[in-house]
Amino acid sequence: MSEKITLPPLSYTGWGAMEHLPAELKRFNARHILIVTDPFLHQIGLTNHVIAPLEELGMTYEVYTEVVPEPPLAVGEKLVAFTRDNNFDAVIGIGGGSALDLSKLAGVLSQHEGLVADYLNLTGSRQVTHKGLPTILIPTTSGTGSEVTNISVLALETTKDVVAHDALIADVAIVDPELTMSLPPKVTAATGADALTHAIEAYVSKFASPVSDALALQAIRLISSSIRTAVHQGDNKEARTKMSYGSYLAGLAFFNAGVAGVHGLAYPLGGQFHLAHGESNAVLLPYVMGYIRSSCEERMKDIYEAMGFSPSGMSQTEASKACVRELKRLVEDINIPLTLQEFSIPKEAIQSLTDDAILQTRILARSPLKLELEDIFTIYAAAYEGKVVEKGEK
Ligand code: NAD
Repeated sequence: MSEKITLPPLSYTGWGAMEHLPAELKRFNARHILIVTDPFLHQIGLTNHVIAPLEELGMTYEVYTEVVPEPPLAVGEKLVAFTRDNNFDAVIGIGGGSALDLSKLAGVLSQHEGLVADYLNLTGSRQVTHKGLPTILIPTTSGTGSEVTNISVLALETTKDVVAHDALIADVAIVDPELTMSLPPKVTAATGADALTHAIEAYVSKFASPVSDALALQAIRLISSSIRTAVHQGDNKEARTKMSYGSYLAGLAFFNAGVAGVHGLAYPLGGQFHLAHGESNAVLLPYVMGYIRSSCEERMKDIYEAMGFSPSGMSQTEASKACVRELKRLVEDINIPLTLQEFSIPKEAIQSLTDDAILQTRILARSPLKLELEDIFTIYAAAYEGKVVEKGEK
């Protein structure tokens, strides 16, 4: 079997990576720049990391702050229309996945015709055909990996969908852990759990390869060994740096191998109940991995090892079961509720969540265990009760 490996053209990573921004801006020869961010990040001055070099270079800019977490389609439509109406010649996205996803859309779809809705993966009728404005993406969370992927996620009425095309890959990603120091514990936990889920799902994906495996395992090592410290001691530079590299690697891993059941079931939770993306992943992670465990025992043993535990003296089955227990413990340690009940999701919603999750065919296709309607219902019910259930178990 062979596989396609796509890597973004250029990234700067590590503490102080923002120093490369001016040279990159000059390279694009851009004069009028669109900066996409959310109002809070602008208010606390994180955007000054972008504005100061722009001003020094004598470039003009507009700061667009109408980004909301888990952006609905309408927010994307508005930004694309705004970008078309103004003559920008480059886009800089600075923020979490919400701002970065919208920046990619603005860069590409402002140079295409039609609505954003026309380009959605599940229901759209048009295809992205060419690259858009030069785009630089600067994450301020260690989570989504959006800075290196080719998708933009948008919230619909009851679920989420994506615009996906390689034209959405940023020209430059700048991944500087310094910009994550101001993340509060709750967002650190949710976004970190998202990154860990990317790495784990990429590692057990049906489309994993030795390349994505290397990226995923190192991401799991970095994230598992630093997420608790990053959440509980936010000023710890070493933990923030490890989380930054970990989320970047996890992004590259899942961009190439894909995510699967956890994300497929998380999208309706975000769509119907507006849970933060990372929280929906975290609350489902132990239950999806527990349910599919027997289909990927050896890989679950590897994950257990990458999380820092020794499987010596354990059978593969024991180590994979211990992995599920450790995932549950990790979610608990970073103070994310471990049941759907604790997120105030009513038991009756399990059916509608299931009905929406089964539509995520692109994502579910990568699960090592085929997930049918009944499996998905069982997993949501397990997450509701807080009890891991394995395939075949009552
Ligand atoms: P986010 O962008 O929604 O931000 C969450 C909150 O954190 C916001 O209130 C924001 O103001 C705040 N915040 C961000 N950085 C901060 C900082 N440095 N200091 C203080 N506060 C800060 O959260 P996210 O989890 O990064 O992104 C979620 C979105 O990304 C969802 O829509 C999700 O579906 C999408 N996503 C995209 C991809 C992809 O590959 N494109 C992958 C996974 C998730």
